[in-house]
Order: sequence, then structure tokens, then C-alpha cells
Amino acid sequence: MTANLLDFDLEGLAAFCERLGEKRFRATQLFRWIHQKGASDFEQMTDLAKSLREKLGASAHVQGLKVVSRHDSADGTVKWLFDVGAGDVIETVFIPEADRGTLCISSQAGCAVGCRFCSTGHQGFSRNLTTGEIVSQLWFAEHFLRQHLGRQERVISNVVMMGMGEPLQNYSQLVPALKVMLDDHGYGLSRRRVTVSTSGVVPMIDRLAKDCPVALAVSLHAPQDALRDNLVPLNKKYPIAELLEACARYQTAAPRDFITFEYCMLDGVNDQPEHAAQLVSLMKTHAIKGLSCKFNLIPFNPFPASGLKRSDMPQVSAFAKILMDAGIVTTVRKTRGDDIDAACGQLAGDVQDRTGVDQRMAAQRQGMLGGIKVVVAKGTNV
Ligand code: SF4
Repeated sequence: MTANLLDFDLEGLAAFCERLGEKRFRATQLFRWIHQKGASDFEQMTDLAKSLREKLGASAHVQGLKVVSRHDSADGTVKWLFDVGAGDVIETVFIPEADRGTLCISSQAGCAVGCRFCSTGHQGFSRNLTTGEIVSQLWFAEHFLRQHLGRQERVISNVVMMGMGEPLQNYSQLVPALKVMLDDHGYGLSRRRVTVSTSGVVPMIDRLAKDCPVALAVSLHAPQDALRDNLVPLNKKYPIAELLEACARYQTAAPRDFITFEYCMLDGVNDQPEHAAQLVSLMKTHAIKGLSCKFNLIPFNPFPASGLKRSDMPQVSAFAKILMDAGIVTTVRKTRGDDIDAACGQLAGDVQDRTGVDQRMAAQRQGMLGGIKVVVAKGTNV
């Protein structure tokens, strides 16, 4: 079997070139062709010696993921479903804003953490994605969007590992993928613009600080352990105090001077004034230990199996005011791509419920989804 070069960071590609009897610097040229120009055909790579192109042709390939479908929202958000085999699909979402283009990437097919408010969590865990499958989402989206938007320059300026899966439970495949994103010969993204979002895998937060300290976001969602145990089951293993201490340690290596805490606003569950007051007290306690925080309040995207409801806006505003009055920087996330179920796991959950039932995908193939522009690719690869 030949090697998929999307599986390698630059160091890995240099080692691969050495195994082919080539100088390590050839890896830089090859890496640029693949990631900066989106090339997958070695014959296109005209500044590589013909002998190297022949060796590559015999021993390697550049293979992205197969696109199942593309969904374009009226607000410019684009969502892709990719086939990762064995009936599993993953999601990738592009969110354009005036000053940035953010790509939300998946790290696993499904997720084992099982957060109550998360559609992916309800689908269960299938498998970890490989480095190549993580990188492919960026590789595909960047070069597709450049072509689609008629742009020469970079379209994606930010990456958030907030799609399907808990990235820190797929650590060995995640770190090389992050290195490809950061590499100046790859996508050249700054550490501040690449965010790993975790539900709180404490030992891996410490490892990430040493191996690849990018921006960190933590899915908190509750101010005390009893409630968080219920919403984010991983809390039983790594309770809030341990998690916040790991965040304070991370901050010494982090590229930003704060950790972002995500808080999904659930009507009557975690959105009451006393919850906000508890959060303020929690953050004050940990500020003494060196933690600086920013809060991102997220409107919940309801899905039937959750039994949960979205907090109404006055409730969200009142909650935000309590945090802000205490000096905590707080933003309320805008919902994007509502018309295409852009929240994590929603569309894949509709496509596949892990019993193999696939009715909605069939409807999409026939272009039957009312009001949603659905573009179904026929086995497209870049
Ligand atoms: S919120 Fe994240 S960690 Fe929790 S179940 Fe969903 S994908 Fe997994």
C-alpha cells in the first residue's frame, strides 16, 4: 500500500523522502505543492526532478476525503459532509466573517464523551480520524473555496477543532495535523488562530502545552460538579477544580492571554442568575491561581433526542450581564447556518443514526430538502 502524504507533517514528510533516498529539503517543495497549491498529481509538481516524481508515483499518493454533500447557508456558511468509510460521515463547516474565515474541523467519527446537549454525543463513538483525515478537511476546504470564490490568496484564516469528536482523545493524530496547519510551508496559521476545544481531558491539556500550544477553548457548560457531571460526563473523571488548574498551567504556554470557556445556554438547566453568580465566584477563585478567562455563551441548537430547550434571549442577556458586571469578558455567539443545521453533529446525525438508516441522505441526493441548497457530490475528491 502506498503512503498518503496528507498523513505527514513536514518532519514526517522529510523522513519519508529520506527513506526514498532523497534529500530532506525535497520534502519542503513537496509539502508546498500539496498544501499551498492544493496539488495531488505528482506530474504537476514541475520543479521536482522527474526521477523523484517517478519514485513518488510508485510509493505515495495524495488522497483527500470523499465529499458526500455540500450545504450552503443563506448567511455564507458552508458545511460539508465527508465519507470516512464504514458508513461513517464527518462534518466540516466554513464560517465567513468580515475579518476572518473560520473552518470548524472534526477530529473523530462520533464522540465517546456523550455530552447531553450535543448531537454528536448522542450518536456514539465510531473511531478516531487519522492525521490525513483531519488535514484533508482543511486541504479540501481551502482549495475548494479559493476556486469557488475566485481568490488567489488564503481564504481560511482560523481553524477551530470544534467539529465532531473530542480532539484530545485523539492526541497522537491531532498534533501532527496541528503542525501542518501552523507550518509556514503549509497553511502558515498563527498559534493564536488555531483553537483546540476540549471537554476537559486534563492530562492531555498539559501535554498540549508542551507539544503544540495553540489557543485553548474549554467546554464548561456548568459552574458546579453535580450539574457538569450530568451535562458533560467526563467531569466525573476530571472535575471542575482539576480542569481549571490545568487551564491555569496551560496559560503559561498559551499564545493568548486568556482561555475561552464555552457555555451552552440551556433553558432552566444552567442559565439561571445563581449559575452566573457561581461562575463568577469560581473564576475569581481560579484567577488567584493565574487563570484569565473569556466566556462565550452559545445558544443551544435543539435536537429532538436531547429533551433540552434553548434559553431565550432575555435570559442569555441577563446571564451575560452578571458575568460582565463582574469584569469577565463575555460574548454571545451568533447562530450561523441555522438553515443548514450547522451546529456540531446535527446534519451527520440526521444522515446516519448508526443503525445505518440513511433516509435523509437519500432525500438530499434527490435535492428534496425544502429551502436548503444542497449540492451532492458524486464521489468527488480534490
Ligand atoms: S460536545 Fe464535544 S466532547 Fe461533548 S459529545 Fe459533543 S463532540 Fe463530544
